[in-house]
Amino acid sequence: MADLGTAQKQSPCGGCGAPLFYVPSSDAEMRICEYCGMANAVVPEGLKGVSEVAPLVEMPSRFKVGQSGSIRGKTFQITGRARYDYGDGTWDEWTLYYPEENKCGWLTEDEGEWVLFEEKRPLEQALDLSSIKARQSLSLAGLNLFVHERGQCTPVGAEGQVFQVPNFGQAYAYVDGTAGDREVILMDVGGACWLAEGSELFPMDVKLETS
Ligand SMILES: [Zn+2]
Repeated sequence: MADLGTAQKQSPCGGCGAPLFYVPSSDAEMRICEYCGMANAVVPEGLKGVSEVAPLVEMPSRFKVGQSGSIRGKTFQITGRARYDYGDGTWDEWTLYYPEENKCGWLTEDEGEWVLFEEKRPLEQALDLSSIKARQSLSLAGLNLFVHERGQCTPVGAEGQVFQVPNFGQAYAYVDGTAGDREVILMDVGGACWLAEGSELFPMDVKLETS
C-alpha cells in the first residue's frame, strides 16, 4: 500500500510473515495480505491471522487500492476493497481513509454507480429482513425508508485494509432503499442488523491524483 503518512504502521502478516502496512487506529479492522491471502485482524499488538481470502478478479473501475485524491474537497486514500456477489452481479466496497480526521468511510460501486457512506450503525430493534418487501415504506431508526429491493449477498473476496467482512462464501440478507435523498442499506450479519446512510456520488465530486 502507498504511503499513509504517520498514521501508518507495519506488522508481519499472521500467515506468511511478510511486512504489511496498515492504519492501526481505524474502523477498518481487517488487513488482507497481498502475498498469501490471509485476512488479518487489526489488534492492538499488530496483525493477527484469521482466515484465507480468495483474490479478487480485476474489474474496470476508476479506483484502485493505494490511490489518493479528494472527495467533495476532503482528502482520502483508498486502503482496500471488498466484493459482494448479489446474484445478478457484484458490488465493490472501497474503503476510504481520511488522514485529516484519522477516520474511515467507504464507497460502493455497482455498475458504475457510486454511493458514499460514513458509518455502519447497529439497529437497536430486532428486524427480520425477510419480512420486508420491495416498494414498501417503513419507519426505521428515525428514517422514512422506501425499499427498492431485498436480496442476498455473499462476500466473495477482498484486498488491502477493509471494514470487518462477515464470513466469506456465506449469504447475508440485505435491503436497499432510500430515505429522502439519502441512500440506505441494511444488512443482517447473523441475527443482528446494521444500517448505513449514504449519498450518491458523481464523477465531478471525485478528484484522483495520478500516480
Ligand atoms: Zn501473508
